[in-house]
Amino acid sequence: MSEVLALTGGTVIDVRTGAQRRNATVLIEGGRIAAISVGENTPESARTVDATGMWLLPGLMDMHAHITGGPNVRKDKLHHLYLAYGVTTVRDTGGNLTLLRLLRNRIESGSHIGPRVFFAGPLLDGATPVWPAMSIMVDTPERARSAVEFLASQGVDFIKIYNWVPEASLQVILDTAHRLGLRVTGHVPRTITMTRAIQLGMDCLEHIRITGRELLPSDEADRIDSLPVARRETLLWERFELESEQMQRLIRLVADSRVFFDPTLLVDSALSLDGYAIDTEHPANADVPEAVRQAFAREERPPIFDSSEVNLETARNGFRKRQRLVQMLHEAGARLLAGTDCFGLGKQLPGLGLQHELALLVDSGLSPLAALQAATVTAADALGQSEILGTIEPGKLADIVLVEADPLSDIQNARRVRMVVKAGRVYEAATLREQGRSTPSG
Ligand SMILES: [Zn+2]
Repeated sequence: MSEVLALTGGTVIDVRTGAQRRNATVLIEGGRIAAISVGENTPESARTVDATGMWLLPGLMDMHAHITGGPNVRKDKLHHLYLAYGVTTVRDTGGNLTLLRLLRNRIESGSHIGPRVFFAGPLLDGATPVWPAMSIMVDTPERARSAVEFLASQGVDFIKIYNWVPEASLQVILDTAHRLGLRVTGHVPRTITMTRAIQLGMDCLEHIRITGRELLPSDEADRIDSLPVARRETLLWERFELESEQMQRLIRLVADSRVFFDPTLLVDSALSLDGYAIDTEHPANADVPEAVRQAFAREERPPIFDSSEVNLETARNGFRKRQRLVQMLHEAGARLLAGTDCFGLGKQLPGLGLQHELALLVDSGLSPLAALQAATVTAADALGQSEILGTIEPGKLADIVLVEADPLSDIQNARRVRMVVKAGRVYEAATLREQGRSTPSG
């Protein structure tokens, strides 16, 4: 018989309702939650972890991550930080298929400490791929079909599409993926409107990427839609009117279609507010090995992140509008997710980035509970994994975060992680963070 683990005395948060069960005992066996009860109900043989004074949350999920870096192995040195900040699952929205499979194998076998990984593998993009080294070109419907069939045969968890997928290819991608039981997420291709992407059957939308052609006269849209992202989004959001009839219609469509919406505010704040500046001074960087810190600080930003011609004031106003849109979508009943798209220093550290995304969602007007839902119960739903992830309930995988103060009263408390349990295995957050400090450089 496998060992029974008991988390005793803590307050279990039901992320569906916000209800709190005080003085709870959570029994874990075989990596899954076996039972939850109130009071002392610990079998004698169980190993006990005293959770008195702590709040128990389901493991958090970063729904937009890129955790392998091609030849850039320094990312490997920071995967444990996801756990240290309570993130037990990431959805990798584009990377090298083989590296991702190898990484997942290493994590699952226990030889590498990191989160549970769901991945798409390569991006599907059109004839002018933005990231050629990690994309498959689906410039024709035939290539679109064979690409999806290939990826399905390789065991990817979902399909990710990118900026220049033609509409005819997108239709085939969606048909083929859905026939094979895979969901499709991605950018709204710059060739179509968000409305059209939803009508075609996209399961999930990444970033707030309302295209110019959705709301602007076509000559203006043609001019702006193909610009680098920071300039483009700033110019678009200078024009977009949140109260316009078309915007209201789009918000209704997002809510009514049940499409998942992953606003990734963190990456947009990085792009719009600090020009993707490297967060070199952040105190949390103390947990990053020196060589890794230097490598990130030296990194050159790809040209698509160029923000040199962006007016910072206009960019800030545009970002506030996007936050307001997130609140309007939430009020309309849209299914929001929490994703970061970031991996770097400071605010973008693995795990800490997701905590910043939660804070940005709350700053947009969501309650702490609603923000936490985006990173737990709704995230599990978007992955098609509601049976095993997303809440603290018997039968589910024992992915649980123990925090030192009530995260429902203040979202900043969600980052006060004391311990994290992943599939029944207990990690001390302080020990995890220490690991990065003590890792020899190289
Ligand atoms: Zn991304």
